[in-house]
Amino acid sequence: MFRDPICGMSLDEKETEFKTQVRGRTYYFCSEYCKHTFSEEKRIAYFSMEIGLTDDIPTYSGGLGVLAGDTIRSSADLKIPLVVVSLISRKGYLKQEITKEGKQIEHPVEWTPSKFMNELPTQVRVQIQGREVEIKAWLYDHQSLTGGIVPILFLDTDVEGNTPEDREITSFLYGGDERYRLKQEIVLGIGGIKMLEAAGFKIRKYHMNEGHPSLLTLELLRKNDMNPDKVRDLCIFTTHTPVEAGHDKFPYDVVQEILGEIIPLKTLKKFGGQDRLNMTRLALNLSKYVNGVTKRHKDFSRKLFPGYHISAITNGVHSFTWTCDSFRKLYDKYLPGWANEPELLVRVDGIPDEEIWQAHIEAKEKLLDFVYKKTDVNLDRDVLTLGFARRATAYKRPDLLFSDVGKLKEINSKGRIQVIFAGKAHPKDLSGKQLIEEIYGYIEKLRNVMKIVYLEDYDMQMAAKLTSGVDVWLNTPLPPLEASGTSGMKAAHNGVINFSVLDGWWVEGWIEGVTGWAIGPHPSEQLSTEETKIRELDDLYNKLEYIIIPMFYQKRDEWIKMMENSIGKIAYYFNSHRMMRRYVTEAYL
Ligand SMILES: *Cc1c(COP(=O)(O)O)cnc(C)c1O
Repeated sequence: MFRDPICGMSLDEKETEFKTQVRGRTYYFCSEYCKHTFSEEKRIAYFSMEIGLTDDIPTYSGGLGVLAGDTIRSSADLKIPLVVVSLISRKGYLKQEITKEGKQIEHPVEWTPSKFMNELPTQVRVQIQGREVEIKAWLYDHQSLTGGIVPILFLDTDVEGNTPEDREITSFLYGGDERYRLKQEIVLGIGGIKMLEAAGFKIRKYHMNEGHPSLLTLELLRKNDMNPDKVRDLCIFTTHTPVEAGHDKFPYDVVQEILGEIIPLKTLKKFGGQDRLNMTRLALNLSKYVNGVTKRHKDFSRKLFPGYHISAITNGVHSFTWTCDSFRKLYDKYLPGWANEPELLVRVDGIPDEEIWQAHIEAKEKLLDFVYKKTDVNLDRDVLTLGFARRATAYKRPDLLFSDVGKLKEINSKGRIQVIFAGKAHPKDLSGKQLIEEIYGYIEKLRNVMKIVYLEDYDMQMAAKLTSGVDVWLNTPLPPLEASGTSGMKAAHNGVINFSVLDGWWVEGWIEGVTGWAIGPHPSEQLSTEETKIRELDDLYNKLEYIIIPMFYQKRDEWIKMMENSIGKIAYYFNSHRMMRRYVTEAYL
């Protein structure tokens, strides 16, 4: 059984006469009309340096890639005509090993693209350091149960004839130095445009997920008589980084050496910045539609880049992917159709409380089994369990919980808690690695008092287990550095309650004591750094001691009500179906 990728009708591929062979694959349709539409329809080209599709395809490092994956999943479900361009990242991001002392050791991830995707017969070339570099592409079709297909092109320079150095350009995600990064961005942006054309895709708009692909605007300028307005009409840019230092910038001597003068330097400087080539500026100057990933991030980006019109489309997560088995069953029973229409989760109140609790216990037991297998630590099913998992980096402050160990012990003696941590540090992020070591130190120090574990090698599967199996999802970023954050939205889909600093998406999702709890002041309060920190620690410890622990152990009804609010007031909205519908109506059309 097949589904027509255009209309979604079920088909027997042996019986249909309407088929087409393109890019090394055969596609089946119900009619000439659908066949024609599939081949001729103009698509949105979505460019992203990283993509989190599955853990078998390790071409992602964190939130940005997972968002790209959820974008693809929702687009396929909704049959939005998207085609995606990314890099193959043959050595992946990294496999994380942690020693007993808490030291992170990184291993390359060896994987075999040919197991999962087809190599296209097409190759294109870009100029790098004056050399012609050949690029090939791997095609992966993500197909939804609705029939919708999103093709993904993974660009690869490991081609015979390229120099050994050039063959490595698409090996390491976020590896290497500034020169290496620029080469990757040439392959992604310029090579990507060429590959789409060579592979026969017709494109209506180009969507840059973060600044990495923004060299594509230069290729578009060349194809459009150097007319910036024509390019702007074609481009959409989503920025993800709320700090100036987070944006890729390249000195012009490096640009001259590696990229050459593909457009006159004077023009490049006009769009990309006078002193250095700033990938964000380039995208801002050549896109008609620009957005931040939450309302707060939009406000911040407007301050960072005055003079640009920046909109907000708040991120979401793919509801079906991030809902665990027991809750999927429950939603199927009471809210049929929820997966492709997550708005239905607003009707969660129709689900009996006992069944919500039972579904949660099932997810919690699965997580605790998993933790036991990985660590030999037997966590307790009846103990309030906090989860904290995300990239290990300083601004996420995984150590905030341990700011006052004495206080934490005291709280734990009144109502027991246990904590699960996970997260990888970027190989060059020394303070991120240091933090993992520090957490290991606290685990050791509190060994006889509280059960705390740190799970090795955080990935999407583990994220799904954690965000469904703990009781409370803790997030303590240093404002305003969390542009969005998405793991808390995953938690909400599983009735896990958020306890978080008011930054990123949580400013929009939070209603105190209804959808979860805030740590620290609202951004509108504008306190000093010291005052903010005091408020954060007060909230963290006091709310745990006087609100969260008593409610969990003594007022289970109220607790379940808050779980339901997480589903009905957060998950129904913070999903990538709503997000993609907004991209379609506000940016793509
Ligand atoms: C969802 C997810 C993230 C993003 O989490 P944040 O809350 O944005 O920090 C990072 N890594 C993985 C593996 C994820 O699944």
